Amino acid sequence: MKYQFLDVGFTYRSLKEEMDAAVRGVLDSGIYIGGEPVAAFETAFADYCGANHCVGVGNGLDALVLALRAYGIGAGDEVIVPANTFIATWIAVAQVGATPVPVDADPATMNIDLAAIPAAITDRTKAIMPVHLYGAPVPHETLQDLARQHGLVLIEDAAQAHGAQVGKARTGTLGHVAGFSFYPGKNLGAFGDGGAVVTDNAELADRIRMLGNYGSREKYNHESVGYNSRLDPLQAAMLSVKLPMMDAWNAQRRRIASIYSAALDGAPGLTLPSVAEGTEPVWHLYVLRHPRRDALKEALAARGVATGMHYPIANHRSGAFADSFASASFPVTEEICQTCLSLPIGPHLSEDDARAVADLVNTAAHDIATVETL
Ligand SMILES: *Cc1c(COP(=O)(O)O)cnc(C)c1O
Repeated sequence: MKYQFLDVGFTYRSLKEEMDAAVRGVLDSGIYIGGEPVAAFETAFADYCGANHCVGVGNGLDALVLALRAYGIGAGDEVIVPANTFIATWIAVAQVGATPVPVDADPATMNIDLAAIPAAITDRTKAIMPVHLYGAPVPHETLQDLARQHGLVLIEDAAQAHGAQVGKARTGTLGHVAGFSFYPGKNLGAFGDGGAVVTDNAELADRIRMLGNYGSREKYNHESVGYNSRLDPLQAAMLSVKLPMMDAWNAQRRRIASIYSAALDGAPGLTLPSVAEGTEPVWHLYVLRHPRRDALKEALAARGVATGMHYPIANHRSGAFADSFASASFPVTEEICQTCLSLPIGPHLSEDDARAVADLVNTAAHDIATVETL
């Protein structure tokens, strides 16, 4: 493919010397769990988000699981989740023994439909887990009002939205607690698995650290059936090298997104992503919709443009959840699954690349429209 969808090696190549030195530093230190590199990254990432505390964990899924566990959410409890999200959001809820209660997507933003949340709240609801999907933050005023009125916890799934803002507030500060992922393809990606929980609540952070360390605050004393989920110091050291560059990389994503949105406006059959008022997305993904998505995907592949689908199978139709949701229907999400196509985006692409990709998408969309009218 001439235009790669993603190039996770790009960030390493652009910071190779610093990154190699950081890795050597950890190897030379003789400390391979925890230690200064983890503490330093936790402080830097909490500062970046504008939050008081960050706890490094093994991955983004664990970040969500630990946040739920720290609030004592489990069997018999319900957690409101978006129908349209990566399956990890649902799995986190299911893993603690609680029930995910999906709410369909807003057709404009493809994020959770805020207006539909109240109808999903029951006596068993303990938390709302909004997902800032594709890097587009969910505005938090309505969510915070609902959480206050019903005594619910607000857990952000910020795995796709490092640095995204609502007004001046960054993700990680929009709810009570947030889970981040540093999976290599995310906006801030490690070189293996990694994740973090971010919160202003000192007691909660302490509890999450305890749970992620075999339920132990001090050696030999295990107060809870916890997990082994800790951020690796090698990953932490490399993430600290990358963090200062992230805003520049996110800015490049924004430039690419605005090139796409300007160039593709009015192209036949395309629905372009729209941005909720007052929000600053970080464009983890640029997801457009087309009724003949598969034809468009094939036409682009033939022209050297790699694309993705986020996501082609709805969670309630996946093997993991189909039995529990056999009679459920989330029409907007189902429509997104059929029509979504993600264009290449990321710091590996130049603005010229983005213009070239947009031209190829335009041509392909016109070709499909022409064939249809013949
Ligand atoms: C990536 C992702 C996760 C899980 O992160 P991992 O580090 O892969 O465990 C959770 N939620 C969303 C929305 C994601 O995109």
